[in-house]
This record gives sequence, C-alpha cells and structure tokens, in this order.
Amino acid sequence: MDLEAALSKFPRVQMGHFPTPLEPMQNLGRKFGFDLWVKRDDCTGVGMGGNKVRQLEYYLGQAVAEGATQVLITGAVQSNFVRTAAAMAARLGMGCHIQLEERVPSSDALYRNNGNVLLNQLLGATLYRYPHGDDEAGADGKLREIAMDLRAEGEVPFIVPLSAEHAPTGALGYVQAAREFLAHGEVFDEIFVGSGSALTHCGLLLGLRALGDATPVTGICVRRDAGLQRARVAQRLSDLAHLLDVSNPVSNTDICVDDCVLAPGYGQMSDVVRAAIEQAARYEGLFLDPVYTAKVLAGVFANHERLKGKRVLFWHTGGQPALFAYANAFDFELPAD
Ligand SMILES: *Cc1c(COP(=O)(O)O)cnc(C)c1O
Repeated sequence: MDLEAALSKFPRVQMGHFPTPLEPMQNLGRKFGFDLWVKRDDCTGVGMGGNKVRQLEYYLGQAVAEGATQVLITGAVQSNFVRTAAAMAARLGMGCHIQLEERVPSSDALYRNNGNVLLNQLLGATLYRYPHGDDEAGADGKLREIAMDLRAEGEVPFIVPLSAEHAPTGALGYVQAAREFLAHGEVFDEIFVGSGSALTHCGLLLGLRALGDATPVTGICVRRDAGLQRARVAQRLSDLAHLLDVSNPVSNTDICVDDCVLAPGYGQMSDVVRAAIEQAARYEGLFLDPVYTAKVLAGVFANHERLKGKRVLFWHTGGQPALFAYANAFDFELPAD
C-alpha cells in the first residue's frame, strides 16, 4: 500500500524537529540485562516537545486549511497536549482556549499552578475549568459551546477533539513517525510506548505494519485497564485505517497492552514511577515525566525477565514539564548550612 500517498492527502504544519534522535541507554540496559534504546520524541522541538507535536502538526494543518483564528482543546490539568497546542497556535498567530479537566485527585498547589499550567499562561492561552475527568464527550460538548461564543465574536474556531467519536487525526503523526523510525535502519525485538488516547500507539502500530515491519509494539496503559484500553486501541485502529482509506493491516492478536504499572490510576504517583524517574536520571541523565513516560519505563522493567538478552526500544514521548508539578512527590531539600 502507498502510505506516502495516503498521508500526503492530509494538510500538515511542519514545525517539529525531525528525525528525533535514537540513542542507546547502556547503563540501564546493562543493569536489567537487555540492550535498551530510547527514541527521543521528548526532543520534537516546539514548546518543550513531546509526542503531541507530531499529532498537532496534522490537527493544526487542518485548522490552517479552514482559516481558523482560535484553537480550542481540552485535557487534564497537567496535560502536555494543551500546552503544546498553545505553543504551536502562538507560532501560527492563533489564539488558544484550553479547558482543564479534573482527572487527578490533587489539591497540591504545584499541581494546579506549576508545570504545564504555568506554561499555558506564559503562552497567553485562555483557561477554562471542567469539573469531570472521565467524560470525554461532555468535555468536547463544552468546547463546542465556547466555539459558538467565539464564532459570535467573529472568530473562526477550530476544535481539537478528545473523544473517540472523532476521526483520529493526531495518529497520522505517528504513522509518519513509523516511517521515520524505519529509516533509522535499527532493528528491535520489541517497542514500548505509552497508551492513553491511543493515538500514538495506533499510529505507530498501523504505520509499521502498513510498511511491512512486524516489530511487536506494547502499549503501557496510563489511563484505563488493559481490557478497556485494548478495546480503545482496536476501535481507533479501525478508525485510522478508515481515515487513511486503507485496509487495516493490524490483526486483533497483534494488539499488545499491559497495565502492570497503572495503579493507583491516571496521573498518580507510585513507588515504581518514582523509581523509574530516579533511575533514568541517575543512570542515563534522562528526565521522564510522572504521568506517562515513567510508567512506560517502569513497565519495561516489570517485563525484564521476558526481555533478557533482547533489543528493546523505549519510545520517550516527552512530558517533562509536568515533573515540576509533582515536585512534592520527591522530598528533596538543599543541604543545610
Ligand atoms: C499524551 C501523552 C502520551 C499518550 O499519548 P496518546 O497518544 O494520548 O496515547 C504519552 N506521553 C506523553 C508525555 C503524553 O503527553
């Protein structure tokens, strides 16, 4: 199938720094007994980077094509998606309206004001609050109300939708990333990536299979348990094949999800998450975020028996600004005089 032709039908704003580096993580690999590498999508270059740059290149491509003047987006209080959207909208000369959902039970002042929330405000975005964290359709409905008000003021609003009733446009960025990854010419026994909205997981998996590559891709669950996430991935894969107008090259048995490090829940700290953050920093000089990438690396470590002697790729998807919102989960202090 001609993936290049299928992708080129979609408008894209090219802002990211690509290809992102592919690097060995020799110290941690040696410690756990496998050949560990990292794909540095924390280095995508715009607004502090991360996987959402790849996704938003396609959403905002559509926004530009529609002549949008304002971008509307919803996410958790410490969402990286909304921060990246605000940065890219600023570059495009568009306003950005961000709705922050209460997904994480936290009243920590740092969680509510620092990290991505601080950056959203520096970027000049207009912030709104949404009380529910598990009502994707409701959150999208609220964005449509804000869009109506903006339209009445003469603006042209563009909504980046969240719920799975919408086309998985952001996954196109990871279909593109699959091409970029294969061009490195490095072969792995298994790839680990975070699976939340599942657009990253689905884009990468469908892209690889469509290009004839069979490397197993394991999605580490960050938001839903394995049963729910598997269903979400299956649905979004079929939606993505439909969007691209290609036949779905991924069989159901090829969908791998693992929720071994999900507890206690989305965006909540745990001992394995803290350990992964500390180990990545101390062994590799690499920063992880507490919501996604630390869970993924903790998931890789949890599978270390099975991975012995294998060549393993940890796909870093960014998110480090959220670290500062979780600073109270680490009790570090300056040494006393
Ligand atoms: C959003 C996000 C993810 C999850 O990506 P999805 O495409 O929503 O599954 C992983 N890592 C980071 C840092 C993110 O911000």
